[in-house]
Amino acid sequence: MICMETDSKKIAVIGGGPAGMLACLLLADAGCKNILLLERNDRLGRKLSATGNGQGNITNEDMGAHRYFSSDREKAGRILAAFGKRELIEYLVSLGGLFVSDGEGRVYPASRQAASVTDIMRFALASRGVCVHTGEFVRGAQKREGKFRVFTDKAEYCADYLIVAAGGKASPHFGSDGNGYALARSFGHTVTALSPALVQLRTDRENIKGLKGIRADCALRLLRGEEIFACRGDVIFTDYGVSGNAVFRASSFARENDVLSLDFLPDCEEDKLVCVLKDKAENCGALLSENLLRCIVHSAVAGCVLRSLGVSPSATCASLRGRADSIARRVKDFRLHITGSMGFENAQVTKGGVPLGEVDEYLMSVKVPGLFFAGEVLDVDGECGGYNLQWAFSSGARCAKRIASL
Ligand SMILES: Cc1cc2nc3c(=O)[nH]c(=O)nc-3n(C[C@H](O)[C@H](O)[C@H](O)COP(=O)(O)OP(=O)(O)OC[C@H]3O[C@@H](n4cnc5c(N)ncnc54)[C@H](O)[C@@H]3O)c2cc1C
Repeated sequence: MICMETDSKKIAVIGGGPAGMLACLLLADAGCKNILLLERNDRLGRKLSATGNGQGNITNEDMGAHRYFSSDREKAGRILAAFGKRELIEYLVSLGGLFVSDGEGRVYPASRQAASVTDIMRFALASRGVCVHTGEFVRGAQKREGKFRVFTDKAEYCADYLIVAAGGKASPHFGSDGNGYALARSFGHTVTALSPALVQLRTDRENIKGLKGIRADCALRLLRGEEIFACRGDVIFTDYGVSGNAVFRASSFARENDVLSLDFLPDCEEDKLVCVLKDKAENCGALLSENLLRCIVHSAVAGCVLRSLGVSPSATCASLRGRADSIARRVKDFRLHITGSMGFENAQVTKGGVPLGEVDEYLMSVKVPGLFFAGEVLDVDGECGGYNLQWAFSSGARCAKRIASL
């Protein structure tokens, strides 16, 4: 068994993602000398380096608990407020980074390279003397006689404090495959129901034939009898259903059998569209039906709308004058039935995790003193837009603050 230096408290951190790395850095800054960071991948922050399409959307100007889902959103809000976007950016700037907002509130490194955030954290860990073991998988851990024993595929370590920052189970190819939940359970914790979030949705495909690859700026509504969620953004059509930022946002709320209503012309009132279509049916009456919506919506979308209404391709625009209302309605309320999601393999984040009721205000286990949880392993997930990285950083900071004070 390898015991770390004996002159100060020993801290072991499982998982070299944003939560684990930030916890280590702040512990080192607070003067802790015996910090061991264990990461199964051969390099730190693989998922962090892939975030935001490789650009790293690390936080958002519009930060607050209302952007999150959790069994205890208020507690999550207090943790986020204690180390929020300002503190995060200031800290990363102190490590040598520069950050910019995209005008819609999303904050990125000025380099627009997520990997550069990983790099400045990695360099800072090295300069602070944090002991980083990459390529080392933690198989299990337990607490015996007041000390944690951490078992890896290479060695056994002891520590006074243990932070589990092993991530969730979304996009497991980046290393976080859900084993953090098994670690939590082995200490007597429960884990709430887990589901993929910020993920592409499967829909009935008949209605969207011919739309594959098309990106449309839509007002999207999620319906389950009544409206559950609404937003505006990109919808990208695929061979399994829909993707795009509006879909990712809706996916946090969506369930199988819900309905997506897409408005392909969000800036045009329906009445106005009806008038435009009636005029066009008169003025261009001899043209084929496919021309009625030309230059109004994408031609592939026009084809789907007309097909869904049973309009014959050989019909003329003139013959559609009396159907202008129903065509306008369909453009503004095009419905797709959700049949599922693309699953954890493709999701950005996990909904559910270790409930906040099982940790204190500083994310220490109420069951096992000295055991902490940080990041996605906890039952907190955020909307699309930098909220999940902010949670990872805020929660990592929270654990570090407490351990440093003990
Ligand atoms: C493609 C993609 C894009 C994303 N884009 C964004 C974005 O732009 N903005 C945003 O806010 N969020 C984004 N997210 C979500 C965000 O990346 C995560 O919420 C965040 O990384 C979670 O941080 P974490 O430290 O809790 O876990 P992780 O980043 O998952 O890190 C956990 C680490 O623990 C390691 N590990 C797991 N088990 C063990 C073990 N037993 N032993 C040793 N090591 C272990 C893993 O290898 C991993 O490196 C994105 C996610 C994906 C998949």
